[in-house]
Amino acid sequence: MESCIFCQIAGNEIPTAFILEDDLAVSFKDIEPRAPVHFLVIPRRHVASLNEARDPALLGHLLDFARQTAEKIGLEQYRLVINTGRDSGQAVFHLHLHVLGGRKLGWPPG
Ligand code: 5GP
Ligand code: ZN
Repeated sequence: MESCIFCQIAGNEIPTAFILEDDLAVSFKDIEPRAPVHFLVIPRRHVASLNEARDPALLGHLLDFARQTAEKIGLEQYRLVINTGRDSGQAVFHLHLHVLGGRKLGWPPG
């Protein structure tokens, strides 16, 4: 997906410092952080949203990758968010996990 911004990030077409990367996924800081720590985990392969995800192994990997990234930066308390669909707040239609932390997070989210 040439026009997809996260495909371009994953493919190094938009220079982005990865916190962690492997064959299947990359993680990097959100450009507009909503918490002192806010990074994204994305699959290298284009998947538009969780609704289009058909690979449980990949989904498990993304979850573990979020944990590994948090561990790498010493983040022990955090929240994972997967906005799915416009009404949830999804603006980029390439599956991504938000990982937020570094402050006390309110519940329920808005
Ligand atoms: P969504 O609203 O789709 O769940 O989240 C998309 C996230 O991607 C937003 O938090 C937004 O700040 C982030 N984002 C959008 N474009 C870029 C970019 O070019 N670089 C980075 N690092 N983050 C981006
Ligand atoms: Zn994409």
